[in-house]
Amino acid sequence: MSAFSEIIGNENIVNSLKSTVHFPHHAYVFDGGGSGFLAKAFAKALLCKSRNDDDDSCGKCTSCKMFESGNNPDFIFVKPAETKSIGADDIRQQVIIGAATRPYMYKHKVFIIDEAKYGFTVGAQTVFLKTLEEPPDYCVFIIVAKNSKSLMATIVSRAVVYRLKSVNFKEISDFLIKKGLPEHSAILCAVYSGGSVGHALRIANDENFLLMRESIIQMLRNLASQSAAEILLSAKELEKYKENINDVLDIAALWFRDVAVFYSTGNEELIIQTDLTDEIKRAAEQYSGNREINAIIRARRLIDANVNFLLTVETMLLNVWDAQCDTRQFERNFV
Ligand SMILES: [Zn+2]
Repeated sequence: MSAFSEIIGNENIVNSLKSTVHFPHHAYVFDGGGSGFLAKAFAKALLCKSRNDDDDSCGKCTSCKMFESGNNPDFIFVKPAETKSIGADDIRQQVIIGAATRPYMYKHKVFIIDEAKYGFTVGAQTVFLKTLEEPPDYCVFIIVAKNSKSLMATIVSRAVVYRLKSVNFKEISDFLIKKGLPEHSAILCAVYSGGSVGHALRIANDENFLLMRESIIQMLRNLASQSAAEILLSAKELEKYKENINDVLDIAALWFRDVAVFYSTGNEELIIQTDLTDEIKRAAEQYSGNREINAIIRARRLIDANVNFLLTVETMLLNVWDAQCDTRQFERNFV
């Protein structure tokens, strides 16, 4: 449920938003992990008909109920209709047309444009800028950005910008335990959350996440004994996770993080994925020293450059494989 009370960390930002909830600005940019969750909590509070004494949404009024079921007519979560990113037509259809009619229920009409999730083309930003230059007084636009530097400066200059700090691992796992998650699962979700509570909650509610984790780690463990043709088949198998490419890369990155740490320190207490300690120790025996992690960093760059899923995963797996085969070759020759 979206509410300020569900947010942990970033207290200054939450308090500052609560203080503007009665007279909000026209535009906000939220930047950093957890911004999507905060944007929804703020939108819901702006639209709530009977906010509590703490200026948070009540969760009970018609507006709050409609918000939670995704049917609040005064809330527009802009989505790309046909392409991957939010484009100029999406802004025309959803923002410009939406902003032209007054709110149905209360004072505000709230729009979230989630650049971090979908992307926001330059063409779309140019079209949006016209609305932002002369916004109807009832409109509040919240842009969720992966990095506000990727937005046009003319948009950012018209908005109030909040940069969220990552919430620390312990705060997130404690929060999930309080929510009723078993300690082991809470720690895992916190580890993969990247400091974002919203992401941690999404993972915690995703039954497939653990299965996906298992199959990716299994694949990475077996790479060195496979042929190039088998690796390409493995990459194809991962295509079912193509909507979750960032999770796939996070899982691979954390796996090699632990392998690298054990490889260089020999200290198993520094392993984060304690459920995989034995596997990590074995994998450290054929670790090549950072080439695997570099392969994942390169894969992230390919995804940011919109290279397709299959090509990115094939390149990543082959680079990891190449690194591990070189390690084995070296051991055969010199050990
Ligand atoms: Zn309410």
